[in-house]
Amino acid sequence: MQWLYCDFHIHTTWSDGKCSPDRVVELYGESGFDVIAITDHVLDSESIKKACKQTSGLSAVSRSEFSNYQQALWAAARRAWEKYGMLVVPGVEITNNTARYHILSLDIKEYISPDLDVEAIIEKTREQQGISVACHPYVRNHSGEDPSVYLWKNHERLATMFDAWEVANRDDLFNVVGLKKFNYIANSDFHEERHLLSWKTLLRCEKNIEAVKEAIRNNDRVSLFLYRGGKIK
Ligand code: ZN
Ligand code: ZN
Repeated sequence: MQWLYCDFHIHTTWSDGKCSPDRVVELYGESGFDVIAITDHVLDSESIKKACKQTSGLSAVSRSEFSNYQQALWAAARRAWEKYGMLVVPGVEITNNTARYHILSLDIKEYISPDLDVEAIIEKTREQQGISVACHPYVRNHSGEDPSVYLWKNHERLATMFDAWEVANRDDLFNVVGLKKFNYIANSDFHEERHLLSWKTLLRCEKNIEAVKEAIRNNDRVSLFLYRGGKIK
């Protein structure tokens, strides 16, 4: 069985990313990646209200756009598979900037509100046979903010509820998370092309969605990889 080169945290122009889903597929496909997840933001209602008052507007997928977003990702997934043999997992980053938690929900089919509490988001993700990941769960990240501080403050309680914790995000390695020996993965939190060079996950499993989800849950054949460019294969 092969090691798969994976990245499960990627933003596109559907939220605050600079690249379209097609450009993301081309970048990762040309580099030789096996599995990517596109995970644009869905945002809590307090933060939506605040964003609407500002001129910058909303850079998140709204509830009413969710099915169009899903369809766009399925179209990108078909192209990725045909052209590169690369698997694209549709997902979202459930983003609550009021209570401060960011959660990746991978392979979900229905909208999940970021207004729900963490346990309910994990539960709803599981009901849809999806994977839940605690994002950048430590007080510092590349932007110097603490957008997911709630998850770290409550990590003892939430430890085994998540399918995995993001032990590395872009340039940051959260050794305090690693030392806890939680299930982990590592991701780019990709927003623009230069973020391709970042922490990634290697999984040893078959290249299909069910095998990938099982490998994240079991978390035994998983490895971290700091990608610094070039064609992987
Ligand atoms: Zn985030
Ligand atoms: Zn993100």
